[in-house]
Amino acid sequence: MSDKPIKTDVLIIGASASGLMCAIEAGKRGRRVVVLDHANRAGKKILMSGGGRCNFTNMDIDAVNFISHNPHFCKSALSRYTQWDFIALVNAHGIPYHERDLGKLFCDDSAKDILNMLLEECSKAKVKILLNCEIKTVEKNPDELFQIHSSSGDFHTGSLVIATGGLSIPKMCASPFGYKIAEQFGHKIWSTSPGLVPFTLQPHDKVKLEVLAGVSVECLVSNERIRFKENILFTHRGLSGPAILQISSYWKPGETITINLLPELSVVDLLSSKRKQQPQIKLKTVLAEVLPKRLLPVLLDAGIIELPLQNLSREKINMVADKLQQWQIKPNATEGYRTAEVTLGGVDCDQLSSKTMESKLTPGLYFIGEVIDVTGWLGGYNFQWAWSSGWCAGQVV
Ligand SMILES: Cc1cc2nc3c(=O)[nH]c(=O)nc-3n(C[C@H](O)[C@H](O)[C@H](O)COP(=O)(O)OP(=O)(O)OC[C@H]3O[C@@H](n4cnc5c(N)ncnc54)[C@H](O)[C@@H]3O)c2cc1C
Repeated sequence: MSDKPIKTDVLIIGASASGLMCAIEAGKRGRRVVVLDHANRAGKKILMSGGGRCNFTNMDIDAVNFISHNPHFCKSALSRYTQWDFIALVNAHGIPYHERDLGKLFCDDSAKDILNMLLEECSKAKVKILLNCEIKTVEKNPDELFQIHSSSGDFHTGSLVIATGGLSIPKMCASPFGYKIAEQFGHKIWSTSPGLVPFTLQPHDKVKLEVLAGVSVECLVSNERIRFKENILFTHRGLSGPAILQISSYWKPGETITINLLPELSVVDLLSSKRKQQPQIKLKTVLAEVLPKRLLPVLLDAGIIELPLQNLSREKINMVADKLQQWQIKPNATEGYRTAEVTLGGVDCDQLSSKTMESKLTPGLYFIGEVIDVTGWLGGYNFQWAWSSGWCAGQVV
């Protein structure tokens, strides 16, 4: 390692989704780009994403699919580098993929395909990636250059891009580095919390529901602000599955969520008409046709599920309908950053340019990806935000 600082045009901290995309674009413009990362491998979160198949974008991207204190901020970047642009890149690399429910696009084979594509593009654009690199200090010189002191040497750069993501999955090298740099340069940080994360349950619910571990049901899960119709999954620790992960990003401690286990039908209508047609049939037999059998004795009293429909009063039918379609549950907490897919909050959008991601306070400083206060829903939205914001910065750094 030489003692002389290495001069570069663009220095990006974070070699994952947003950082690599920015590096490719800047490199293609002929800029000298260096990417530093403290991990021993680039793109670790890409590799673990989408159950190893990387849900790399969604067919239906809209600002409503993102959470931010400034809901308009994401619009410009998402419209300048769209899902179609990323899909074209994936196609150009011949990566096989498929569409799942709600427009989610996944690799057929492996998330490695996406990472290899980005690394290949980086190498074409002559981007230099240095791993296992500890960033010690970041300063801005009076001569307007940023000075980065790191375990891989000192760097001087005109453009510094922070692409260090959020706090989720510390084991995958997540760190608060980006927030600290933002604060150092006078930026406001919206308080952070885990998003897209399973719920743990109050002790009495945990005891009652843990026998259901492994059961998955399509539900409508809602709170006062939003609703999601996707599967929920009962686990040994609590509640998970896409609908739960989605609502977790809109949940505040102490709040109750409402679960409709049969969003496609009216339980009152079903039971009333069955009672007319087959009065002798037992409640559990009717419900087992529309719900996993294991759920019934857990959610409904043993005395009731054994009753023939003719013995079910209107009042009891309403009560059963309420339990199945208005099931109120107050989570104890979330599983936290250990298992969260994303981090809510982060660098305040209002102090960044929505077109370039450049700081309005410190020229030459950029924030991209998850470190910004923009959090996508489950379904490929977070990667699309990483690609779009990274691409935008890559055009100007
Ligand atoms: C289990 C899991 C599954 C997911 N699946 C999906 C999915 O299928 N689809 C989807 O859209 N989103 C998914 N996400 C979310 C998605 O991975 C992130 O939103 C996205 O990776 C954010 O990209 P980023 O570049 O901003 O940050 P990251 O991908 O988090 O990258 C940050 C980089 O910065 C580096 N870094 C951090 N701190 C420092 C430091 N102090 N010094 C140097 N380097 C540092 C890290 O090592 C890392 O390489 C998933 C997340 C998880 C955890």
